[in-house]
Amino acid sequence: MSEDERQEGQELAHPELGYQTQAVQIGIPRGLGDGVGIPIHQIAAFQFETQEQGASEFQLNTGYSYARLQNPTVKALEERLTALEGGAATVALSTGQAATFTAILSVCKSGDHVVATSSLFGGSVGLFGNILPLMGISASVVSNTPEAVQAAMQPNTRLVWAETIGNPAADIADIAAYADIAHAQGALLGIDNTWGGVGYLCRPLAHGADIVTHSLTKWAGGHGSVMGGCVTVGTRHDLSRNPIYTAGSPSILEARGEAALSWRQRWFGAHQLGMTLSPHSAFLIAQGLETLALRLGRESATALALAQFLEHRPEIGGVAYPGLESSAFHGLAQKYLHGGYGAVLTYEVQHAAEFLAALRVIRIAPNLGDTRTLVVHPWTTTHGRLPEAARYAAGVTPNTIRMSVGLEDVEDLKRDLAQALALSVVRESEIALI
Ligand SMILES: *Cc1c(COP(=O)(O)O)cnc(C)c1O
Repeated sequence: MSEDERQEGQELAHPELGYQTQAVQIGIPRGLGDGVGIPIHQIAAFQFETQEQGASEFQLNTGYSYARLQNPTVKALEERLTALEGGAATVALSTGQAATFTAILSVCKSGDHVVATSSLFGGSVGLFGNILPLMGISASVVSNTPEAVQAAMQPNTRLVWAETIGNPAADIADIAAYADIAHAQGALLGIDNTWGGVGYLCRPLAHGADIVTHSLTKWAGGHGSVMGGCVTVGTRHDLSRNPIYTAGSPSILEARGEAALSWRQRWFGAHQLGMTLSPHSAFLIAQGLETLALRLGRESATALALAQFLEHRPEIGGVAYPGLESSAFHGLAQKYLHGGYGAVLTYEVQHAAEFLAALRVIRIAPNLGDTRTLVVHPWTTTHGRLPEAARYAAGVTPNTIRMSVGLEDVEDLKRDLAQALALSVVRESEIALI
C-alpha cells in the first residue's frame, strides 16, 4: 500500500478541522443551554422508559445503561481521542496498562502469538512475559528493526506490537514497514503511541497501524494528576483471517461489521474486565487534551535545546534524543514525527546518585508528560526487575538518566543540570579522597 492510499483511507471524523481546533471543540454539544465544556456525569446507571428499551439496550449496547460500559463524559473524551488520532473509534480505560492488555486480547486467544519490539515500557514487558503466557498466548520480543520482526513472524502471529518512540533508548519504530509485514499474513499492527502525544507528534494509523494505544496518564492528562488509557482503532483493519472474528454463525464480523474490533475492546476491557475510566478522570483528561499541542510543542523544543546543551558537556557520556542530528534514528524521526521530537531524552552521567541528589529544580519521580521536569534512574527503578543483560539490551546502564521535560524556563533547567553535573563530579572526588 502506498503512503497516499493510506492517507486517503483515513476517513477522519472532522477532516476539515486542524488539530488544535479539534482538541478544544470535539465532544461538546452545540444547543440552547448546553454547557461550553464537557460535563462530569457522576452517574452509575441510566434509565429506560420501557422493558423493551432495556431488553434492546442489553442486546445491542449502543446507548447508556450502566456506567461500567459507557458514560456520557467518557464518551465525549473518546470522540475527542478518535478525532485527534484520526481513527474510527476509541475505548477509554482506567490506565495505559489496561489499554495494552485490552488491545492484545482483542485479537489474540490461547495458541496465538505476538511479535513485539524490545524497547518497550516496563509494564508491557511484564504483560508479554508474565500475563500472556498464563493465557496460552506467546510473545517473541525482538530488536526494533523490520528484519527482526519479519524473521519472528509465525503462522499463528496475530499482532505485531511496537512503541512510536522506544523507552528509554529513544529509538523510532518503522511503522509503515511493520504494517506491511503484519498485513502480509493477516495480522494487525498495534502501536503504543503514548510518546507520540495523541496524534500530535505522530499518527500511526495514517502510516498503516490498525490499533493505537495510549497511557493518557502522560501527555494527554498532562499535569501529573490523573491516570487513564485508551485503545483507538483505524478504519481499514482486515480481520478476515483471524478466527476470533470469523468463527461461528453469525461470526463477530458478520454481527458487528466494521465496529467488530472496537466492540470487542469495549466488551473485554470495560464490560468484562471492568477496567473502566471514571467520569472525573475522563473530564480531567479531556481538559488536558485542550492544551496538549501547546505543552508538547514547547516541551519538545525545550528537550531539543537541552539535548544539544548536554551533548557538549564533558561530564556527559552520551545523549539519546531522536531530534539530534547525531541520533541513528533521526531519519526515521523525520519521517514519522511532526511538531517536535518528543519531550523525553536519555543521557549518561558519570555519577548518577550524586547527580540526582544535587538537582534543585528538576524532581526525581517515575512519570512522563508532567508539567514539571522529572528524572528517573531506570537501572534501579523502571528497569530494575530485569536481568542485567536485558537492561543493557534495552539501552540502560547504571549511569543512564531518563528525563521527561516539563514547562519550566529552559535557562533554569540548563542551570540546574550544569550545577548538578559540576557538583556530582566534585562530590564523587571528595568521596574518593575519604
Ligand atoms: C506509562 C506508560 C504505559 C502504562 O500506562 P499507565 O497509565 O501507567 O498504566 C504504557 N506505555 C507507555 C509507553 C508508557 O509510558
